[in-house]
Amino acid sequence: MLSDTELRHLRRCVELAAEALEKGDEPFGSVLVAADGRALAEDHNRVAGGDRTRHPEFELARWAAANMTPEERAQATVFTSGEHCPMCAAAHGWVGLGRIVYVASSEQLAAWLAEMGVPAPPVRSLPVRDVAPGVVVQGPVAELTEQVRDLHRRYHGAR
Ligand SMILES: [Zn+2]
Repeated sequence: MLSDTELRHLRRCVELAAEALEKGDEPFGSVLVAADGRALAEDHNRVAGGDRTRHPEFELARWAAANMTPEERAQATVFTSGEHCPMCAAAHGWVGLGRIVYVASSEQLAAWLAEMGVPAPPVRSLPVRDVAPGVVVQGPVAELTEQVRDLHRRYHGAR
């Protein structure tokens, strides 16, 4: 079960994903939270400019490496609207961040995109545990999943 504070962080991720969509970007949002529950940094997808690596989880991992001690990173949690892709899961693992809590799993997202007829991405979709087995992962979170699915539907112009 998630606490109210944890749910609030996840709701913020969905808001950030909606912000990205409004700016014409893919709807993904993430928040980096310290051990005491404080949000330290947040971001959303910025791939619309042409750099397909500009995922929020990747940005947050690099922010954590630059601004946090290894101990602080290990105790931090990354909340995110969609489970980390393999690139972001690897970055998360390399910088030694702690838990991940996501709304929608990579498996769910892949199924939704396939259903909408979106071509497969150039990088295979894998669960975080297959990329960074030491990371504690929690999700999907059913009460917010439909909202995230809806953002992806809107991005891809599907109904
Ligand atoms: Zn990613």
